[in-house]
Amino acid sequence: MSFEANCHCGAVSVTVDAEIPGKAVMCNCSHCSIKSLVLGAVPGSAVSVNRGEDQLETYQFNRHVIDHRFCKNCGVQPFAQGKGPDGSSMAMINLRCVPEADLETIEIVHYDGASL
Ligand SMILES: [Zn+2]
Repeated sequence: MSFEANCHCGAVSVTVDAEIPGKAVMCNCSHCSIKSLVLGAVPGSAVSVNRGEDQLETYQFNRHVIDHRFCKNCGVQPFAQGKGPDGSSMAMINLRCVPEADLETIEIVHYDGASL
C-alpha cells in the first residue's frame, strides 16, 4: 500500500510506501499553525521523491533538527524529515497534500507545541 503527497502546483510529488496514517497531529506552534499543517507520521525510509527533487527547498528553525521540505514554486510543504525519539529517521506527511486522505475521518490529535 502506498499513497502520494503533492504540492499545489504539481511540481513536487512524493510517494509514501505506507498506509495513510489514521491519526494526524495539528500543532499550535508558530510554524505549524501559520501553515495549517496536518501531519501524519511515517518511517523516513517510506518516503521517496518521485518528481521535483530540484524544486524542493528546506526550511529549518528553532533547534534546526527537522527539515521542512517545500516547493519553491508554489510554497506548499508536502512533508518534513527528521529523527524520531529513538534516533531512527522519520517523516511527517502533510495530509492536506494527500488527495486520498479524508481529513473528516482521520483522528486529529492536537499538540501544544506553542508551550514547549
Ligand atoms: Zn509546487
